[in-house]
Amino acid sequence: MKKVSIIVPCYNESQALPLFYEELKKHLPRSYEYEIILVNDGSNDDTLQIIKDIATANSSVHFISLSRNFGHQNALKAGFDLATGDCAICLDSDLQHPPGLIPDLLEKWEQGYESVITKRIDHESISFFKKTTSKLFYRLTNRFSEVKLEDGVADFRLLDRIVLDALKNFSENQIFLRAVIQWLGFKQITIEYQAAERVAGTSKYTLRKMLSLALSGISAFSIKPLRFSIYLGLTIAVLAFLYGMYALGVNIFTDRAIPGWTSILMSVLFIGGLNLLMLGIIGEYLGKMFIENKKRPNYIIAESDLIK
Ligand code: UDP
Ligand code: MG
Repeated sequence: MKKVSIIVPCYNESQALPLFYEELKKHLPRSYEYEIILVNDGSNDDTLQIIKDIATANSSVHFISLSRNFGHQNALKAGFDLATGDCAICLDSDLQHPPGLIPDLLEKWEQGYESVITKRIDHESISFFKKTTSKLFYRLTNRFSEVKLEDGVADFRLLDRIVLDALKNFSENQIFLRAVIQWLGFKQITIEYQAAERVAGTSKYTLRKMLSLALSGISAFSIKPLRFSIYLGLTIAVLAFLYGMYALGVNIFTDRAIPGWTSILMSVLFIGGLNLLMLGIIGEYLGKMFIENKKRPNYIIAESDLIK
C-alpha cells in the first residue's frame, strides 16, 4: 500500500486543531497508509499538548516541535524533510484548505503528476483587505521575479517523493516554497478550490509577515530590482543633464538667472531620496547574502517522535 504523509504546520492553533483533525480524518481515502505529521512552530499556547494528545491516541499521527517560531515556510520544510511517504500533502490547520480536496489531489498524483498545486478561488467571506493584499502580493512578485506565480496559489499541495527529495537540497534561509516548487519543475498541475473561513483562532499572517514574504519572494528569485536601480539612475541622470543644459542656457543667454533655491532644494531632496531607495535595494541583497552565508539551518527541532 502506498504511504501518504500529511503535513500540518500549527502555530497557536489550540482552538482550531481538534476541529481540523476530526475533519481531516473524514476525508482520507482508505486505500492508502497515512502518516500525519503535526508541526508545532513554537506555539505559546497549549498547541503542543494537544498535538501530543492526538499523537498518543492515534498511531498514524506524529509530531515535530520546533525550538521556537520559525515561520510557516520553515515549519513546512521541517515536515517535508522528515516525511517518509511516497508523497506528501501539506495544508493549514485552520480548515481554510479544505481536507475534502485531498482525494482529488491523490487522484491527480495517481495520474502521474509529481506536484499538484492548488489555487484558491476567493470566497465572499474573505475580507476585502486580505483579498486586495493578496492580489497586490502576486502582482508585485510577478512583476519583479523570474518565476511566475499564479494568483491565489497557497501552501496546500501534494508533492511526490521525487520532488521531496529534490527539496531536501534546499537550505536557503528565507525559503519561499511556492516559488521554489515551481522552479523545481517536474510534472505539475493546478486544481482549484473554494477557500473557507478560518474555523477558530485568528490569522497569524500579519501585514508585516506578508510584506516580508513578498520581499523575500522577489529578492530570492530575481536580480531585477538591482537592474531597476540602474535604469532609474540612468533616467534621472539624463533628465538632470537636460535640466543642467537648460539652466546653463538661461544663465548665458538671458538675464533671468535668479539664484533659485527652489530648484536646488528639489533636486537635492530628490536625488537624496533616490539614493536611499537604491541603497535599500542593494542592502536587501546584501542582507540576504549575510544571512545565507552563515548557512544556518532552516529550523531546529526540539522534540519529535520521528527522530529516535
Ligand atoms: N503558521 C505557522 N507558523 C507561523 C504562522 C502560521 O506554522 O509563524 C501556520 C498556521 O498555524 C496555519 C498556517 O500556517 O496552519 C497558515 O497560517 P494562517 O491561517 O494564520 O494564515 P492565513 O490563512 O491567514 O494566510
Ligand atoms: Mg489561515
